[in-house]
Amino acid sequence: MENAFDAFAKDLNAGFPGTAVFFGEPMRKHTTFRVGGTVSLFAEPKSIEAFVWAARELKRRDLPCLVMGNGSNLLFSDRPHALAVLSTARLDTLRLSGDSLVSGAGVLLSRLASAAAEACLTGLEFAHGIPGSLGGGIYMNAGAYGGELRDVIEAVTYLDAGGALRTVPGEECNFAYRHSRFQDSGDVILSAVLRLRPGDPKEIREKMDDLSRRRREKQPLNFPSAGSTFKRPQGDFAARLIEAAGLKGLTVGGAQVSEKHAGFLINTGNATAEDILSLMDQVRERVYLASGVTLEPEVRIIL
Ligand SMILES: Cc1cc2nc3c(=O)[nH]c(=O)nc-3n(C[C@H](O)[C@H](O)[C@H](O)COP(=O)(O)OP(=O)(O)OC[C@H]3O[C@@H](n4cnc5c(N)ncnc54)[C@H](O)[C@@H]3O)c2cc1C
Repeated sequence: MENAFDAFAKDLNAGFPGTAVFFGEPMRKHTTFRVGGTVSLFAEPKSIEAFVWAARELKRRDLPCLVMGNGSNLLFSDRPHALAVLSTARLDTLRLSGDSLVSGAGVLLSRLASAAAEACLTGLEFAHGIPGSLGGGIYMNAGAYGGELRDVIEAVTYLDAGGALRTVPGEECNFAYRHSRFQDSGDVILSAVLRLRPGDPKEIREKMDDLSRRRREKQPLNFPSAGSTFKRPQGDFAARLIEAAGLKGLTVGGAQVSEKHAGFLINTGNATAEDILSLMDQVRERVYLASGVTLEPEVRIIL
C-alpha cells in the first residue's frame, strides 16, 4: 500500500505543484494531545480544488483517508497507521458578506470569533476559546458557555461520499449535542456561511475576554489535552462524576486526570496514546461502579 500512497503523492504534486506532503508523519505533531503514531501520508492541499481532487482521488484508488482540522479532538493510537490524512489548514479563506461570515473549513474558530468582533457582529463569542477549526467545529457541533455552532450555521458546503459538491442549510445538518450529520455520512466539510447579528463592539470584546478568563481559571491549558475527554451525560457533568468517584489526579504513565478540571485528561509530558486510552478505560469503569453512569468519549479515537 505504501507504493500506492507514493504514487498518489506524485500525482497530487503534478496536478498541484508545491502541495505539502509528508510520509510517515507522526500525529503527535498535529494533535493537541501530542501523542500518536505515524500515518503513511499527511498532506495539506493549498486550495479547495486541490483538496477536492485529493479526497476524490484517494477514494477512487481505495486508499483510506481521514480529514482533519486542528487536531484538538483527535487521539491516534501509537501504532503506524496505513492512512492518508488530509489537513484543512490551508482552506483558510474568510470574508464578510453583510452580517454573515463566509469561511473555509480550515479557519480557526478563534480567528472567526475575532473577525466577527472586528466587524461588530455578535453570536460567535462562545467559540473564541475553542481551539478547533470551523470544519471540526461543525463536525462536532462544538459549543461552550451556552452557545453551539448550530446557532450560527446558515449553510455548509461539503463533498459527499460519491464525490459530488453539495450545500445544505444549517437546519438540515442534524445538529445535536456534540453531533452533526457529518459524523454519520463521512462527508467532507469544505466551507460554511455563519449568520451573525449586529452587536455592540465593546460588549462583544468584554464577553470574549470574560470567557477566556473563565477558561484560564478552570482549565489546565498549560498541558496538552483534547479538552473534555468525555461527553456530558444526560442531566449531569462528566467532571463532577469523575471527581465524585475520587479520580482527580489518577495517573497512568504520562496521562493524568487533571487536578484542576477532572473532565480533562492531560498529557503531563511523556504520555503515550496507550497511557491515555488505558486511563480512559479506568475512569469509565470506576465512574460506572461509583454512579452507574457510562461515560461516552467525546474525543475521536483512531485505533
Ligand atoms: C484546551 C481545549 C479546550 C476545548 N474546549 C472545547 C469546548 O469548549 N467546546 C467544545 O465543543 N470542544 C472543545 N474542545 C475540543 C475541540 O476543540 C473541538 O471538538 C473542535 O471542534 C475540534 O475541531 P478540530 O478542527 O480540532 O477537529 P479535529 O480534532 O481535527 O477533528 C475532529 C473530528 O472532526 C473531523 N473533521 C475535522 N474537520 C473536518 C472536515 N472539514 N470535514 C469532515 N470532518 C472533519 C475529524 O475527522 C475528526 O473526526 C477543546 C479542546 C481543547 C484541546
